[in-house]
Amino acid sequence: MISIEQATEIVLANTIELPTISVDLNHAIGHQLREDLYADRDFPPFHRVTMDGIAIYFDFLKKGQRTFKIEGIQAAGAPQQAIASPENCMEVMTGAVLPHGLDTVIRYEDITIQDGVATINIDSTTKQKNVHHQGTDRTKGSLIVKSGGIISPAEIGVAATVGKSTLQVSKLPKVAIIATGDELVEVQQTPAPHQIRTSNVYTIASLLGKHHISADFHHIVDDKATTYQRLQQCLDHYDVLLLSGGVSKGKYDYVPEVLEQLAVKKLFHRVKQRPGKPFWFGKSPLGKIVFALPGNPVSSFMCTNRYFLPWLRASMGHSPFPYPYAILTQDFYFKPNLQYFLQVKISYNTTGTILAHPVEGKGSGDLANLVDADGFLELPADRTEFKKGEVFRFIAYR
Ligand code: AMP
Ligand code: MG
Repeated sequence: MISIEQATEIVLANTIELPTISVDLNHAIGHQLREDLYADRDFPPFHRVTMDGIAIYFDFLKKGQRTFKIEGIQAAGAPQQAIASPENCMEVMTGAVLPHGLDTVIRYEDITIQDGVATINIDSTTKQKNVHHQGTDRTKGSLIVKSGGIISPAEIGVAATVGKSTLQVSKLPKVAIIATGDELVEVQQTPAPHQIRTSNVYTIASLLGKHHISADFHHIVDDKATTYQRLQQCLDHYDVLLLSGGVSKGKYDYVPEVLEQLAVKKLFHRVKQRPGKPFWFGKSPLGKIVFALPGNPVSSFMCTNRYFLPWLRASMGHSPFPYPYAILTQDFYFKPNLQYFLQVKISYNTTGTILAHPVEGKGSGDLANLVDADGFLELPADRTEFKKGEVFRFIAYR
């Protein structure tokens, strides 16, 4: 049985390389960008009016002029107009080009308009007020987004602005979430007394959804030949398999044996942790990765958070993510020589620290307890007593 540190190291040493593909801008969120994005024009591309009001030539205001005859209106989306007499003004709308010959915008809030003449009601303003000057954010040709980062809404906005309707990105991994077990029925079904509804696949899928991965669901019954055939198909079709159940010591736990028959090399089986001890991890000759998690809902949930998501993020090109730490708020005792993932509810104090309050459940089958907690505090193996005030690594799932 290996430690969680060894298991983590093995998992992260087996990330996958994903090819570059082209995607529509609308579907690019969450992907790793594989091209540089440059400004095709200045940002902003013209002297942009930032307030609805009037544009004037500042020097006249400075000299004491307070009334300005309105020559016309410069609307957003209209080509630039020019003022005929610079002692006059033009009404201008937010997003419009500043009319030629004018340099300062006074808000409607600061003027009154009567009979085609605007009167300025404030004593002073500054030259060029309420104008966002051409090229002040970025100049044409400058690098705005470097290749390699993960595309967030901010990058989407920039890509749209520079005219990229498609982007070169890393493909997202194709993931199969596979439930195993004869006792499982679908959510919409009414289980017989000896059955339960499958929940793990939904929990895991929703964790993946946060990374914009939409996984396919499969269910395999506890039969060796069926398990062999279905896993073989999945290994052909997916980059990574995420199984739940069938990896423990039960008579019908066929998953490890069948995976090895399918030439998936076992990289480890069983980790010194609770929950999630029976976790099996391996790699096929074609580089397909298999996370075979124990079926107990808290175990598969914890292992997905603790092992699969960091693997996924690394494979997708995310930078390593520094885990937060939290302070245990009461003494805690745990005897077995296993790393214990304690469920905790968190709060914050005024010095910016995370406080972790234990909300222990009834074990790895108690998925309802996850609702009351916010994450897991990692209590190291080789110790039995954990003191109030000690700091431990914390995995948040909210
Ligand atoms: P196993 O790891 O197959 O021995 O299953 C351990 C426990 O987890 C059993 O009580 C299973 O019924 C339960 N379990 C397995 N798969 C699921 C699932 N997809 N959803 C909810 N519970 C499950
Ligand atoms: Mg089972």
